[in-house]
Amino acid sequence: MPERSRQELIECLRQAHALLEDFSTLGLENLYLPQIPSSSGAAEGSEAMRPSSVAGAAGESLEDIRRELQDCDRCPLCRERSNIVFGVGNPEAQIVFVGEAPGREEDIKGEPFVGEAGRLLDRILYAMGMNRQQVYICNVEKCRPPKNRDPSTEEIEACEPYLKRQLAVIKPQIIVALGRFAAQTLLKSDAPIGRLRGKWHEYEKIPLMATYHPAFLLRNPAAKREAWEDMKQVTKRLREES
Ligand code: URA
Repeated sequence: MPERSRQELIECLRQAHALLEDFSTLGLENLYLPQIPSSSGAAEGSEAMRPSSVAGAAGESLEDIRRELQDCDRCPLCRERSNIVFGVGNPEAQIVFVGEAPGREEDIKGEPFVGEAGRLLDRILYAMGMNRQQVYICNVEKCRPPKNRDPSTEEIEACEPYLKRQLAVIKPQIIVALGRFAAQTLLKSDAPIGRLRGKWHEYEKIPLMATYHPAFLLRNPAAKREAWEDMKQVTKRLREES
């Protein structure tokens, strides 16, 4: 077998192993098998990864917002970033996942959740019967805080209007806030994530579920079970409402 195919096979087995490991930690009873995306589906492929021209209530599109953010220098995070990490996925998604801020790999690629935490998020999506192209994924902060430090209040305040506008364009049926920063920012709360998670909240009349951040779950695998309970509430509500 050529070396390249061997390496690809090993990577495939590694991913399958991680998936099965997650399923057992999650105590997964029912597995929602994901739909196979049709070749003509709107959510398919790289098209869905680009900011879309779908217009929101204010008549603007994700593209408009992305254009406005071009070379943003509204906060000091602009000094050390390599790329603005705007968001990816389906601009008409039923669910938007909101994380905290890009890390090193996201900063390099310009795409949210592409590192280890992102691979766990992909596996969570898979277990929910979804994939990255069907949902929309973005962060509170669009630029990487140096050394992955917590974003400051001023940095969050500078970036939050763009998140608000993204959500106003997409108008999802459900928002999932991943971790403390996303939950506290969207809910204007200073309660700890342990108290915010697992319950339905509202953001601008949109149901919002807060849960643990995938990076936290990587450090605390025992919390995956609770995160899975939160995601089961999300898939249940989505099924009931569609
Ligand atoms: N953590 C986040 O909150 N967002 C990313 O995009 C990557 C890691």
